[in-house]
Amino acid sequence: MSSSSCLFCRIVAREAPAEILHETETVLAFRDIRPGAPTHLLVIPKEHVRDVRDLEHRHAGMVLDLMQAATHLARTEKVDESGWRLVSNVGHDARQSVFHLHLHLLGGRPMGWPPG
Ligand code: AMP
Repeated sequence: MSSSSCLFCRIVAREAPAEILHETETVLAFRDIRPGAPTHLLVIPKEHVRDVRDLEHRHAGMVLDLMQAATHLARTEKVDESGWRLVSNVGHDARQSVFHLHLHLLGGRPMGWPPG
């Protein structure tokens, strides 16, 4: 998929609006437009990767960057003590709706397990 047809690539390029909270050389994080929890952020690589299945060894540093950005954001959102969850939906049954790799960072309330 080219960047012009990918919503999250357009957010990275500032061609689509988003409430951006954090940016590094490799990662962008913004608020989910339809929050499912008091804290619901999306942490994405700037590089277009469709989903977890397309990760390669060369992405190892970027995956660490995603995790470290999530840890940083959990702190700034003040959910690091109460707890938080990272979710990456893959494919139809998981209801993936945007085909650019993203981690949902959820927190701010107790969550059920397994998710419904
Ligand atoms: P998924 O269903 O796992 O692919 O997650 C995609 C997420 O992107 C959903 O939770 C949507 O609410 C969210 N979303 C879609 N469009 C936007 C947008 N323009 N800004 C922020 N979040 C969005």
